[in-house]
Amino acid sequence: MNRRIKEKYLKIFIPLLIGLIFILILWFGYKFIFQKKLSFLETIDKSVYADINYDAIYGIHLNFKGSIVLPENYNNMQLVLANGKDEINIPIEIKENDGKKEFVTSNLINKGINLEFLPAGTYYLLIKASTMENNKEIDKYFSVTNQTDYNNLEYYTLTKEGKNNKIAIEWNTYEECPTLRFTIKETSLPNDVYDITIDPGHGGVDVGAIGYLNGVEYHESNLNLKVSLALKKILEERGYKVAITRTEDTNIEIYDKGGSAVLANETKSKFNFALHHNSFEYQAEELNGLEVYVASDIEFDFANLLIENIINETGTQISPKEIYQTVPGIYQRYFSEDDILEDEVQPSNKTTSMIYYYNIRELGGISTKSTNDGRYKDINGYPANPYNKANVTTEPYLLELGYVNNEENLKLIIGNEEKYALGIANALKKYLETEY
Ligand SMILES: [Zn+2]
Repeated sequence: MNRRIKEKYLKIFIPLLIGLIFILILWFGYKFIFQKKLSFLETIDKSVYADINYDAIYGIHLNFKGSIVLPENYNNMQLVLANGKDEINIPIEIKENDGKKEFVTSNLINKGINLEFLPAGTYYLLIKASTMENNKEIDKYFSVTNQTDYNNLEYYTLTKEGKNNKIAIEWNTYEECPTLRFTIKETSLPNDVYDITIDPGHGGVDVGAIGYLNGVEYHESNLNLKVSLALKKILEERGYKVAITRTEDTNIEIYDKGGSAVLANETKSKFNFALHHNSFEYQAEELNGLEVYVASDIEFDFANLLIENIINETGTQISPKEIYQTVPGIYQRYFSEDDILEDEVQPSNKTTSMIYYYNIRELGGISTKSTNDGRYKDINGYPANPYNKANVTTEPYLLELGYVNNEENLKLIIGNEEKYALGIANALKKYLETEY
């Protein structure tokens, strides 16, 4: 071959060869990265799907309710997050109903899947069940369909050592198979997302309860603010991003932007602490000590830690008040028949199974049966709660830290705001250390 022809061949052949190698690398790279994930989804049994008819994130917990009619001879039904490599078993309660298996992750709104403990990765929510094939027990996976009124969910874990995980929970389809995909990735918090919200009760013209000691008048609104600012400081020192409804002696309307019934959900905070002090003006007996007001249908682990740690740090006591008390220190106040007749009380569609206090009921969205849709705005002046139908909300607590018109109690409260704050912060620390 003469030199000129050889050069001409090389000029065509070498770029062709490089191009071919490049295409091969792309092809095998694509197969290597995607095949594993896709092949797992291909193993899903598409003969039946489970219906998911409820999903809600409340605080740090995610709950599902659903049902499935499994094919005959299937046993050991489980709910799992799986990807073909790793598998996380999600405890469920199953009820048999007319050949249908109805399942729930928890009937308590602050239990279920603890989102703080999910490892990074991509997972699919699936039903796993076993059957006999050729005298061998084999596992099959079934996918889930969305029968809720909601679409995708999004969650940011609490800040831990300066880091957060973003959890995207998305409805998708893979080759006509519906899927619910969890994508968990390390990230930092966007500007508008916070860990915790603190709500110092009252403020401005609304001074709240009033107490007197040595001729000095004390306003609940100021005492609430002092504990709240101390708590904000401690939580920030512990690395949390903290939102607060006020830092001065002012107050904004509860359903306005940044208001008490709104801020925690605006900031996607995992917990909301409404801090108050009490008075017994309308009660015959002299009261003293701590009351923790909570939502209905919850596990009391965190509420009990709040009581234990606040008492530990301050030396206060559990309030002896019996009205609305569920167990010592923990209170659940529901609407009474009389409350329901009163139009002055803000929510719409009130029932006696709803919590009376807006800073619990309205902050929890569908989990706490939030009900203010604004229909009585002309009567009571309250606009709708923008998170009235939210299924991703904060977990709210209302703390009555002590009685300001009990002199002994007021002495313990004044100047001890840091101790009360430390008690709350330590309770949170202990709660998050254990996977409840
Ligand atoms: Zn108050």
